[in-house]
Amino acid sequence: MNPVNSEHAKLLRTLAEAVGAEQLLTASEAMAPHLEDWRGRYRGAAIAVVRPANTAEVSAVVRACAEAGVAMVPQGGNTSLCGAATPAADGQAVLISVSRLNSVRAIDPANNTMTVDAGCVLQTLQDAAAQAGRLFPLSLAAEGSCQIGGNLSTNAGGVQVLRYGNTRELTLGLEVVLPNGDVWNGLRGLRKDNTGYDLKQLFIGAEGTLGIITAAVVKLFPLPRATATAWLAIDSPALAVRLLADLQASFGALLTACELVSDVALGLVRKHLPASPAAVSASPWHLLIEVSGGDGDDARRQALEVFLAEALDSGAISDAVLAQSGEQAQRLWALRENIGEAQKIEGLSIKHDISLPISRIPEFIERADQQLVQAFPDIRIVTFGHIGDGNLHYNQSKAAAGENGAFIAAQPAVNRIVYELVHKLGGSISAEHGIGQLKRDELLRYKSPVEIEMMRAIKRTLDPQGLMNPGKVL
Ligand code: FAD
Ligand code: ZN
Repeated sequence: MNPVNSEHAKLLRTLAEAVGAEQLLTASEAMAPHLEDWRGRYRGAAIAVVRPANTAEVSAVVRACAEAGVAMVPQGGNTSLCGAATPAADGQAVLISVSRLNSVRAIDPANNTMTVDAGCVLQTLQDAAAQAGRLFPLSLAAEGSCQIGGNLSTNAGGVQVLRYGNTRELTLGLEVVLPNGDVWNGLRGLRKDNTGYDLKQLFIGAEGTLGIITAAVVKLFPLPRATATAWLAIDSPALAVRLLADLQASFGALLTACELVSDVALGLVRKHLPASPAAVSASPWHLLIEVSGGDGDDARRQALEVFLAEALDSGAISDAVLAQSGEQAQRLWALRENIGEAQKIEGLSIKHDISLPISRIPEFIERADQQLVQAFPDIRIVTFGHIGDGNLHYNQSKAAAGENGAFIAAQPAVNRIVYELVHKLGGSISAEHGIGQLKRDELLRYKSPVEIEMMRAIKRTLDPQGLMNPGKVL
């Protein structure tokens, strides 16, 4: 046994004592699901996968790794789209899965808060809130498997950010195991707390590079009593931006979602998930909108109907389908929610999750499309996203399967076109999915040296050994 392995053997014994031998996985079949990312783009290796059951066990595991000088990769539902939860291929890290920390600790309806373990699946939290007569509004296509700890660590967005904000805005308190094993209990349920630095913000969106989140206090909202959902056919992104402003003027804060879908994106859903289609007419672009709150479904639907009739008259939209039931609304939502899955079935694509000032979105789409088509003939561009948040999913592939491999290999050239324009128009290279290992070099290119150095200083302070999710973000 070489010295490295004997060190590892000692660490493994300590970890087994901390969590119980059956929660320490070292066989390759048992570890495999944890070592590849959701898209199948990254494959890593690990000394072991360890599955602590509570905060004390996470602390013991982290302390043991820190003392052994061994790297740690926190993992939740493993739905990262940028390889953030996949360890490096060198196999020198311990992967810490928080899935067993899965209790709703407390619900305080009067305070409109819920205290939850980090390994709770997002959908479980939505259901728990609903049972208490409240809404937990974070909602995204991966909600059946992603976990709140992962949502916090990526500051996930999703389809209701327009109304309720992203994960950062939904969080009041955190409990975190720091890279040396210390536990910080910041589980406060306060909407006002001006007692120095707001430390929880450091860990939200840190992609597991500063510590392991073990619990959180999140905000709840009243369950909306009424919802109206519509699918609109629209000629251009410019008209979509104008319509968004009109919707906000008419419905104010009741506008819950405004999602842009290109016909190419919709075509993939129709091709691969034919169970979801609803009757929507052909159009180069589509908008899915939802208005919620107010007195009752009928009144809400009538108000939206009046708005849509005017939009049809003025030529702002060319067709509209207004859902007449919850089931119809779900079918419309499936067209939007299934785009990611349909793309996965279709094959690999180059993904960008960018944000821009909403006003610059039409110009971005026009210019970026033009430059990409010029550089890569026969390219397929799949554009959709949360136009109400200025966030686009802007993905590229070649329709011809035989050409796609070579195209994917040209990712740096594709990125350059997309990100240079994003940068020029005042946008960000990641609105939702984060940096992970996929965009690490891009981050260095587009953030100023001052900003990168501030990030590094924070990392050095909290994780001086550089053991927490190394190779991600920075
Ligand atoms: P993982 O993938 O396990 O981890 C993500 C990152 O967080 C990693 O860096 C990991 O190390 C870290 N991490 C995980 N748990 C912890 C913890 N407890 N403490 C510290 N670090 C931790 N994102 C959006 O923002 N909006 C969307 O609409 C959206 N839609 C998606 C749709 C699909 C089909 C898929 C597959 C992904 C989508 N995502 C979306 C990506 C998104 O990042 C995740 O779905 C989710 O937020 C990640 O949660 P997870 O539990 O799977 O985290
Ligand atoms: Zn998204």
